[in-house]
Amino acid sequence: MAEHESLEFGKADFVLLDNVSLEEFMANLKLRFEKGRIYTYIGEVVVSVNPYRAMNIYGRDTIEQYKGRELYERPPHLFAIADAAYKAMKRRNKDTCIVISGESGAGKTEASKYIMQYIAAITNPGQRAEVERVKNMLLKSNCVLEAFGNAKTNRNDNSSRFGKYMDINFDFKGDPIGGHINNYLLEKSRVIFQQEGERSFHSFYQVCVSVYVCVTRQTDATISWYTDQMAVADAMKVIGFTADELQTVYKVLATILHLGNLTFGVDGDTTLIENSKVVAVIGDLLATKEENVEKALLYRTVATGRDVIDKQHTAQEASYGRDALAKAMYERMFCWIVGRINDVIEVKNYDAKVHGKNTVIGVLDIYGFEIFQNNSFEQFCINYCNEKLQQLFIQLVLRQEQEEYQREGIPWKHIDFFNNQIIVDLVELQHKGIFSVLDEACMNVGKVTDKVFLQGLNSKLANHAHYTSRKLSPTDKSLEFDRDFRVRHYAGNVVYSVVDSTHTLMWPEGKLKITEVTKRPLTAATIFKNSMIALVENLACKEPYYVRCIKPNDVKSPLLFEHERCRHQVEYLGLLENVRVRRAGFANRQEYPRFLQRYKMISEFTWPNHDLPSEKEAVKKLLQGCGFEQDVAYGKTKVFIRTPRTLFCLEEQRTEMV
Ligand code: ADP
Ligand code: MG
Repeated sequence: MAEHESLEFGKADFVLLDNVSLEEFMANLKLRFEKGRIYTYIGEVVVSVNPYRAMNIYGRDTIEQYKGRELYERPPHLFAIADAAYKAMKRRNKDTCIVISGESGAGKTEASKYIMQYIAAITNPGQRAEVERVKNMLLKSNCVLEAFGNAKTNRNDNSSRFGKYMDINFDFKGDPIGGHINNYLLEKSRVIFQQEGERSFHSFYQVCVSVYVCVTRQTDATISWYTDQMAVADAMKVIGFTADELQTVYKVLATILHLGNLTFGVDGDTTLIENSKVVAVIGDLLATKEENVEKALLYRTVATGRDVIDKQHTAQEASYGRDALAKAMYERMFCWIVGRINDVIEVKNYDAKVHGKNTVIGVLDIYGFEIFQNNSFEQFCINYCNEKLQQLFIQLVLRQEQEEYQREGIPWKHIDFFNNQIIVDLVELQHKGIFSVLDEACMNVGKVTDKVFLQGLNSKLANHAHYTSRKLSPTDKSLEFDRDFRVRHYAGNVVYSVVDSTHTLMWPEGKLKITEVTKRPLTAATIFKNSMIALVENLACKEPYYVRCIKPNDVKSPLLFEHERCRHQVEYLGLLENVRVRRAGFANRQEYPRFLQRYKMISEFTWPNHDLPSEKEAVKKLLQGCGFEQDVAYGKTKVFIRTPRTLFCLEEQRTEMV
C-alpha cells in the first residue's frame, strides 16, 4: 500500500475503498485524475490514467525517491513497479515481466519507455562502457521500431501498430547486458489503406520525405519531418545498420509507394498495366528487369495435374496481388529490422560465460481489447490475445497468492471469480476452435471461403455458450446472415464480420512451392495463435507486474474525465474483480522489521524499543494491544492484514503520534 497520502487526493490503493463498488471505484479514479494523481494501486498493480499533459514526475529527483524503496513507501508510480520488478530480479534471482495493457492511446508505450528509462537510470553505477553501450542500444531501438511500426491514427498521433515484447538481460551485478525483441501482428494493411484522417507508418514520411515528395501531400504541419528523419537515420546508424542496408530500406519503401501508383486495365483478353513508366522505376529499385515485374504482377502460377502453368490475372486479381505484395514487403522488412536489432542487442555467448548468472526483465506493450463498429479478423486476433493475457493474469495472481501463503505457512482460502478459459478454448482448441475452422476454410482454394468459414463455425460451435450467429439466433437482428458471428468475450460482446477473413489470412508465410500440394503451409492466423501461446508460456514462468492504462477521453484533453468511457475500460480490464481478489485474501502484507519500524510508536510495548525475543513477537504484541488480533495472520517472515480498515487505523494512529 502506498504512503498515506492526504485523503484530499483520494485513496492511493483501491483496496482501501470502503466498499468495493463500481461507483466508489470510479469516484476515486476521477478524483485522483483531477488532482493530478494519475497512478493508483490495486495491491501491486498500477492503474494509470493518461494525463494528456507533461507531468513533472519522471525526472532524476523522482527516480532517486523510488530507488530501492518498497511499493507502499511512496505514492503510486510506474517507477515503484519497475523497482519492484528490478529488486525481485536482483535480490531474489527471479525472471520478472511487466505487462502493460489498455486500449489505443491509453499510454502503454509511454509507460514502457518510462520503465526502461528508470531501469537505465538506476543501473550501472560503475559506468562500465559496455553496459552503457547496451543501454544506449536498447533505448535507441525504440526510436527505430516506432518509425517503422507506428502511425498517426484518429485515436493516437503515435499509435503502435504492432505488439511488442522486449526482454532485458542482466548480469550478476544487476546491469543490463543485452536484450531481445519479439513483435506481433503488424497492421500491414495500413501500407495500402488508411482511414480518413489517418496516415501510413511514420517511416514513409520520415525516411522518404526528401526523396519522394509524393507522400508529403498529406503533411501534418505539427510534425517536423527533418528532425524525425535525422533521429531515425542516426539511431539506425548507432544500432549498426550499414549505409547499404539503409539504402535497401529506402528502396523497399520507395517500391511500396510506387506499387501504390500502379493501375490495371484490360484490352480484349489481356490484362495490362496502365502506367508502364512506374514498372520501369520499380524494376530499377528492385534491380530486376521490367518483364519480371510485369510477370509477377499479371500472372500467377498454378498446378494442373502434373503441369505447372502461368495463368493471367484479371484486373481485379492483379490489384489484389499488387496490394498483397506491398503488404508482404513491408512486413518482411519490418521483421528483418527487428532481427537486425536483435543481432546487435543479443547477449553474446561470450558475455553469458563471463558473467555467469543471467536474469531477465520482460516488458510487454501490446494492444488492448478492441470493439469497433466493424470488427474484422484483426480485432478478433487482438481480442484473443487479450483473452490469453487475462487467463494468464488469473492464473498468476492466484498462483502468486497461493505460493506466498504456502511459503509463509498461512492456510489458503479459495477465491471465486469468472474463469475465461472457456473462451480461450473456443478460439484455439484443436479441430473445433475458431482458428482451426478458419484454417480448414482457407484450404478450400477457389470456393467461397468466407461463407464456408461461417458455416464451419455454425456447425462446430452451435452449442457453445460464448458463440452465436444469425443462423443460431434467427431473431437477433444485430447479426447479419452469412456475414457475422458474435463472441461473448470476458470484456463484452463483439460482433465480427467474416468478410475477407479468409482472403487476408490465407496467405501462407514463407516460401511456398506451388507443386507441393500435400504440405499444408501454416496460415497467418495459425502463426499468430502459435506466437500468442509461446508468449504466454514465456510470461507464465516469470514473476509478473501489471500496469493497466486507461484513456480518460477521446479528445486528448488533460481536463476531461469521461465517466462512461472510463467505466467501460474499468469493466473490461477487470479492475473491480482484481480489487476483490486482492481483498478476498489479505489486503496487505509486510515483513516484520518494516512493519515494526513503521508502527512501533503506537504501542507502549514497542516504543522506543521492545524487549521481546523476536520482531515477530513484537508485532504480535503491538497488534494485540490495538485490538486487531482477529484481522491478521502471522506468516514466517510477514504479517498479513485482512481488511484495509485495520491498516487505515494503524496509519491514523501513527499520524497522530508523529
Ligand atoms: P498507447 O501506446 O497506449 O496507444 P501512447 O503511450 O502512445 O498510447 O500514448 C498516447 C499519447 O498520450 C502520447 O503520445 C502522449 O501524448 C500522451 N501520454 C501518454 N502517457 C503520458 C504520460 N505519462 N504523460 C504525458 N502524456 C502522456
Ligand atoms: Mg502504443
